[in-house]
Amino acid sequence: MSNERFIDAALKAPFYKQFLRKSHLQDWSQIPFTTKEHLRQANAFDLLGTSRENVATYHETSGTTGTPTPSWYSHRDIQTEADVVIHSSLQLKETDIVLNRFPFAMAIPSFIVYWACQKVGAAHIGADKASFVTPDKRVVDIIKRTEPTILAMLPSEAEKIYKASSQMGVSLKGVRALLLAGELVSPKRKAYLEKLWGVPIYLLFGTTETGGLFMTCEYGHYHLNHPNVYIEVVDAQGELVTDGKRGHCVISTAREGTPLLRYFNHDLIAIKEGGNCLCGDKTPVLIHYGRDEDCVRSWTFYDIQEAVYALSSVPFMWKVNVLEDRVIFIFQYTEESPDLAHIEAELAYLLGVDVEVEYADIIPLHELVNVPKYSKYTHIEHVKRSTV
Ligand SMILES: [Zn+2]
Repeated sequence: MSNERFIDAALKAPFYKQFLRKSHLQDWSQIPFTTKEHLRQANAFDLLGTSRENVATYHETSGTTGTPTPSWYSHRDIQTEADVVIHSSLQLKETDIVLNRFPFAMAIPSFIVYWACQKVGAAHIGADKASFVTPDKRVVDIIKRTEPTILAMLPSEAEKIYKASSQMGVSLKGVRALLLAGELVSPKRKAYLEKLWGVPIYLLFGTTETGGLFMTCEYGHYHLNHPNVYIEVVDAQGELVTDGKRGHCVISTAREGTPLLRYFNHDLIAIKEGGNCLCGDKTPVLIHYGRDEDCVRSWTFYDIQEAVYALSSVPFMWKVNVLEDRVIFIFQYTEESPDLAHIEAELAYLLGVDVEVEYADIIPLHELVNVPKYSKYTHIEHVKRSTV
């Protein structure tokens, strides 16, 4: 796909007509980056690159770090989104039963999975992570009743659901693969999850603004094989990085709903040669190191995951508290916690500096088997009341 097609797609949106009015579009390197701030400040309809009647869905980023970013998807876009999953090594089939635990309100991954199931004819079960209707216990009950072959969810959810199912003594043997998205999964975390579940894991890379972009092949590589997406790596000065080194991700996507031209999305990535991958896909490979805001000292989120999931005792849940003068790893173990000094020494070796470790119950285990909190509003109640 030539760069002109990205420019043509972008210029269909009023935002880009205005934004690019003084740009020399013949010279790609002179086209200014689109930033998150641009998208936040824009009127939602100014970002729309197609007619209103051609809109299939509207989504927004969560807004946890500021004003949500709007994102439209056309009817053709949602077919393309489905194809990212369908054409992947996951090999989604009509005989599959897919339990979809991604949140449905505003986010995109749940819909990508649903659209892919619809297009292939696979069975779909909506088990929204963010809904009161489907706490972990109920999801495990649904897994028991319906024997899904694929579970689609956030990586941390995969860690939680596994624990909930083992607490409830429910077998997961019908599951043949996990489709994970929404959080970084470094190679060691992927290996840990694959060992835990005993099935292959396929990762979907993308965001609400850009849509689903790439899925990992059976060898864990994000091949740059999306026909409507162009990825560049730039350094801190915005200059192109071409030697496979790490830099900032700049994405162009010719989506109809919300086209993006040189969108600086705050992900840290590198692009490596992909010709030797045994899957046979010769396209280059994208390595995702996490978001720039998730860097701690000199470590990317990728580095931190590689250390945590290389520990001799991997915690059930974990997080990192970054203080001005120190970094504290908070670990939760569900069995007996290993010796603190030993874990600190292992982490110090893996990260190259001393760090502190504390143990805490990040998720109380009893919460994993809670019953649903939500029920429908009741107009007619049968109550026992003594007459006076
Ligand atoms: Zn491959």
